[in-house]
Parts: sequence; structure tokens; C-alpha cells
Amino acid sequence: MPSILTHAVVPLAMSLAAGRRDGKPVIPRRLLLAGIAAAMLPDADVLAFALKIPYADAFGHRGASHSLLFALILAALGAVCARPLRSTPLQAGLWLGLCTLSHPLLDAMTSGGLGVALYWPWSNERLFAPWRPILVSPFANGFFSARGLATLLSELRWVWLPMLTGAMLWRLMTRSPRTHDPR
Ligand SMILES: [Zn+2]
Repeated sequence: MPSILTHAVVPLAMSLAAGRRDGKPVIPRRLLLAGIAAAMLPDADVLAFALKIPYADAFGHRGASHSLLFALILAALGAVCARPLRSTPLQAGLWLGLCTLSHPLLDAMTSGGLGVALYWPWSNERLFAPWRPILVSPFANGFFSARGLATLLSELRWVWLPMLTGAMLWRLMTRSPRTHDPR
């Protein structure tokens, strides 16, 4: 996995790119927070290690919780909870689905571990992206080490920097021209 904080950068960058409309953020704050939680949630499956479930098992790390189906379930949950999230069912569903899906897609671009079971339950195959520039993160006990630092730098370079730069460029390109006040 990229470290858990790095998964939060996708919702943050997407909400930055979405910007504001009529003086309000397009992605309401509650929806943003729910998206950040959804982008981190699949790694709750590290509990599997404590439960002695093997890594390669469907319910092991990077298994069922890293699937398209899991992202769809969270999308449905988002649509149902649209009102407390200050959103419409379409926006909340799409947003939570995308934020959740970003997690296995980032994991699939890491250099180690097993791939993600994206097509579970139809296939248990663990998949990687053809391009894997992100250095895989050590688990919690090895995080504060030289390797932890190398991972952090790799994530800054391959996730934070491109995502935030992309979001800023998107904002600049789509900013509506200020209407001229005739007074
Ligand atoms: Zn993960």
C-alpha cells in the first residue's frame, strides 16, 4: 500500500479541482471527509493479518476490500446517505465510488506485495498495473525507518505532486472569467 495518508490525497485533489460554485465548495465538506475515509477504508483489511488470514486469501490484505464490487457498495451507501452528506444521491454515490476505487488503483501501482483483487468475487487474481513507480510502504512497525522515508519520498513524487499539480492546473483551465462590474 502507499501509506494511508497518501490515499487521502486523491479526494483532496479532486475536491480542489472541483472548486467552488455560487460561493460554496462543489464537494461539501462532509462529503469530502466521507471520501477521505472511503479512500482509506480498504486497508482496514490489514486486520486479516491479526486474524491469521493469509495475504493471498480473498479476505486477506488487498483482497475483497480492494475490489470494484467494494467500491460499488460504498457508492450505493453514499447514494443512500446523500442527505446527511449534504449532497445529491448521484453526486454522493459517484464521489464515494471514485474515492474508494482510487485506493486499489494506487495500490496496483506499487512496487511490492501482492496485487489487488479488483475483480473479486468473479476472479481471485491479484492484479498490478503495467506501470508501478510507487515504492511499496512497509507496514506500521517499519514505517519510521530509512525505508519508510524512501517510501514517503516516492509517494510525494508519484502521487502528491502530480495529483495536486493536476488539480491546480484543472482549476486554472476551468476558472470562469470574472464578470466585469460596470459600477
Ligand atoms: Zn490497500
